[in-house]
Amino acid sequence: MMTTDIARNLHEVLDTLPTGVKLVAISKYHPNEYIETAYREGQRIFGESHEQELAKKHDALPKDIAWHFIGHLQTNKVKYIVPYISMIEAVDSLKLLKEINKQAAKHERVVKVLLELRVAQEATKYGLSFNDCRALLEAGEWREMKHVKLCGLMTMASHVSDEKQITEEFTRAADFFDEVKSRYFKEDADFKERSWGMSQDYPIAIKCRSTMVRVGTRIFGERVY
Ligand SMILES: *Cc1c(COP(=O)(O)O)cnc(C)c1O
Repeated sequence: MMTTDIARNLHEVLDTLPTGVKLVAISKYHPNEYIETAYREGQRIFGESHEQELAKKHDALPKDIAWHFIGHLQTNKVKYIVPYISMIEAVDSLKLLKEINKQAAKHERVVKVLLELRVAQEATKYGLSFNDCRALLEAGEWREMKHVKLCGLMTMASHVSDEKQITEEFTRAADFFDEVKSRYFKEDADFKERSWGMSQDYPIAIKCRSTMVRVGTRIFGERVY
């Protein structure tokens, strides 16, 4: 991919985002030069899904990048990313939340997190069911965690071409957001993010009240694994 293409793609995506919708540029498997190109165009939020790859990129690249961890995070990897991560998007258990809080305390940091919801039909997808998410919030342990900040919800739709199904899945997530917002975060202005929408479905996600889209391929091209 040519750097001119990356710059053009980035602006094409940004131009379609309504005010209030943030772009997380998903740079996993892409080289530093691609990230630097997007950075020169003003992009500051990047998403990665592997701890070691992220560590190398964080070392090499400008320190005002806000890194989002978007992948499935094992508890034993938390300590490596907590010193510098801006947001951990895919928290899918109380155990993981507690570990982030514990490690963040050691660094006197407050790490922003999203709870990952499972709305897709596919059985392989990670994430909390609505009921598990309700149970986690209802139990209330999170209220005592001073080093994590719950900022909203994240989800992925099924990998299908059926727009109706994708709309239905994102809408369920958006309605669920309203439910938990009013029940647990009414007074908490920081709980506001709805992270949904990837290259294939971010225009649909925006219609379904997304505040944060995670777009990789549409900007950087196909990943080479
Ligand atoms: C890889 C990934 C993305 C970006 O996917 P694209 O189809 O390349 O836009 C978004 N969210 C998550 C959780 C991912 O793992």
